[in-house]
Amino acid sequence: MTAGLVASLDGLDVLICEKSQQVGGTGSTSAGTLWIPGNSAGQAAGFADSAADAQSYLNALIGDDGADPRRDIFLSEGPGIIDDLTRRTALDFVSCGHHPDYRNNLPGAASSGRAIIPAPFDGRLLGKDFARVRSPIDDYFLLGGMMVGKVDIERLLGRYQSMENFVHSARLVLRYLADRMRHARGTRLVMGNALVAQLYYSLKKNQVPVMFGTAFKELVVEAGRVTGAIVSTDSGSVRIGARKGVVLATGGFAHNPRFRTIFMPDPPPIHSMAVPENLGEGVEAAERAGARLDAGRAQRGGLWSPVSLTRRKDGSTGLYPHILLDRAKPGLIAVNGVGRRFVNEGASYHDFVEAMYRSNETEPTIPAWLICDTAFVRKYGLGVIHPGTRNVRKFEKSGYVVCGDRIDGLARKLNIDAGTLAQTIARHNRFAAKGVDEDFGKGETELNRFNGDPDNRPNPCLAPIDSPPFIAVAVWPAEIACSAGLATNGDAQVLDAGDRPVDGLYACGNDMASIMAGHYPGPGTTLGPALVFGYRAARHAARAGDAVT
Ligand SMILES: Cc1cc2nc3c(=O)[nH]c(=O)nc-3n(C[C@H](O)[C@H](O)[C@H](O)COP(=O)(O)OP(=O)(O)OC[C@H]3O[C@@H](n4cnc5c(N)ncnc54)[C@H](O)[C@@H]3O)c2cc1C
Repeated sequence: MTAGLVASLDGLDVLICEKSQQVGGTGSTSAGTLWIPGNSAGQAAGFADSAADAQSYLNALIGDDGADPRRDIFLSEGPGIIDDLTRRTALDFVSCGHHPDYRNNLPGAASSGRAIIPAPFDGRLLGKDFARVRSPIDDYFLLGGMMVGKVDIERLLGRYQSMENFVHSARLVLRYLADRMRHARGTRLVMGNALVAQLYYSLKKNQVPVMFGTAFKELVVEAGRVTGAIVSTDSGSVRIGARKGVVLATGGFAHNPRFRTIFMPDPPPIHSMAVPENLGEGVEAAERAGARLDAGRAQRGGLWSPVSLTRRKDGSTGLYPHILLDRAKPGLIAVNGVGRRFVNEGASYHDFVEAMYRSNETEPTIPAWLICDTAFVRKYGLGVIHPGTRNVRKFEKSGYVVCGDRIDGLARKLNIDAGTLAQTIARHNRFAAKGVDEDFGKGETELNRFNGDPDNRPNPCLAPIDSPPFIAVAVWPAEIACSAGLATNGDAQVLDAGDRPVDGLYACGNDMASIMAGHYPGPGTTLGPALVFGYRAARHAARAGDAVT
C-alpha cells in the first residue's frame, strides 16, 4: 500500500491487487511499530540519535562486513521518508518514547526514540469501507471488539489509581459502546490496524484503485523485462500490463511448505502468525523469473514469537503471541521438556524462540512451558488470561493451561520429571529472594526491566513461584514475519543470480529478504523497512523509462 500510494502521488497509474476481500494482511494484526532510528518524532521529543549509532548497533548485532548496502540506505533515508509520508498522506506517527532496543547491551543501542507507532485512527472516516480493514486477532480485543494499545492497557489496569486514568478508561468504553450500535467492532483503531487504515484512507483519498479478490499468480516477462502480471479473479485470469513495473508485496512465503522446509529450522515450526493468504506466490513467481532468494546469515528464515494455542469460539485453533505482557514479569519461568530453564524469559520474543531452538538441539524444548502461580496470573495475566482473573480453572477446562496444586502434580501432568522441576523452581525462588538470576540474568537488561514490574523489588523481573495452584501454558515457535525472501538492492529492485536488477520488478515487505539478515534489533524491525523500501520502489519506478504502452 505504501508503494501504491507513493507511486500515485508521483503521478503514476497504480493498480493494487489484493487477494482477499480486505486490506491489511498480517500488518493489520500487528503492533504497528516502526523502527526508524533518528526519526523526527523521537528527535522532537528530545531523544538524540544518529544513523552512525544505529549502524554501530546493527554492525554489532549482525556483523559489519558491509555486505548489505540496503542497511545504510535504510538508516540514512528512513527518517526523511517517514517525514515525507506524513506530510503528503494521512499517515501519522507518534514517538514510542522509552522503548529499548532488544539487545540494549550492544554498542550503539538506544533506550528511547527509535520506535514510532501510528496515532490512533478513527475508522468511521472510512465510511462503509471500514469493513475492508482486516480485524486484529480476537484475543487483542477487549469486550469482544475494542482495540487497546500499550498505553490504554496501562490506563485501564490503573483506572482507579488516578482521575486521568479513570477518564481515559471511561472514554474508551463509552466510545466503544456507541460504536457497537452501528459497527461490527470498535472504530478507534490503534497499532497495526491504525497503520493499515491510515494507508487505506490515503489510497482512497488519492483514488488509487484496489481490486479485491484478485490474486497475483505470474509475472509477464518480455525481452528480459517485467512488463506485467497475470492475476486470478472470480471471472478468470487477467493479464495486466505494467508500464513502470510490478511491486511484489504478497506477504512472504509463510504458508508455503517448500520454502518453510528450505529456509526454516528443522523441523520447520508448525505454527505461523501470517494471514492464510500468504502462500509465497510473489516469491515463487519471481524465482521462476530468475530472481535470487536470500536467507541472510542467520539461516533461520523467520523472525519469531512464542505462541500459545487457544480454542476459538468456532472450535478452530488460534495463536496468541507472548510478545510483552507476561514473560518478563516477576514470578514466571520458562522450562523445557525436562524441566530446566533455558533462557532469560524477558528476552525479546525473537531471542526467546532462538533460545528454544538452541535448547532443542540437546533437550526437547518444543513446546516449552511458561510456569507461574495463581498470584502471578491474578496480577499480570498469562497469555489470553487477563490480569485480575480469579477463575483459572475455566482455562484449565478449555485446555489452555495446565494446573497443579503441587509442583509434583503439575510436573506429572506436563510429563516432566517432578524432582527436576521442583529443583528448578526452588533455585529460581532463591534467585528471587536475592534479586539476582545467576543462571540467565533475568532483570539485568533494560528490555527486561522495561517489560517487568517497577514496583517489584529488588528485581522487577523476579519473584518467587510459591502460591498454588501452579499454572503452566505451552508455548510454540511461530514466525511473525519471514526473514528470507527475494534479494533486492537499495531501490527494492529484485536481483537475479548475478546480482543484476530484474528490470521492472520490485519487492517489499516480507517478499523482500529482510535487511536484518535474520536478526531482530528492536520494535518495528519489519514494518520500518517495509514502508521505507515500499517508498523507494515507487520512487525508482517513477523515474524508470516506459517499457510498454
Ligand atoms: C502479532 C504480531 C505483531 C507484530 N508486530 C509488529 C510490529 O509492531 N512491528 C513490525 O515491524 N512488525 C510486526 N509484526 C510483523 C509484521 O506484521 C509483518 O512483518 C508485516 O505485516 C509484513 O508485511 P507484508 O506487507 O509483507 O505482509 P502482510 O501484512 O501479510 O500483507 C500481505 C498482503 O498481501 C495479500 N496477498 C497475499 N498473497 C497475495 C497474492 N498472491 N496476490 C495478491 N495479494 C496477496 C494478503 O492478503 C495481504 O493483504 C507483527 C506480526 C504479528 C503477527
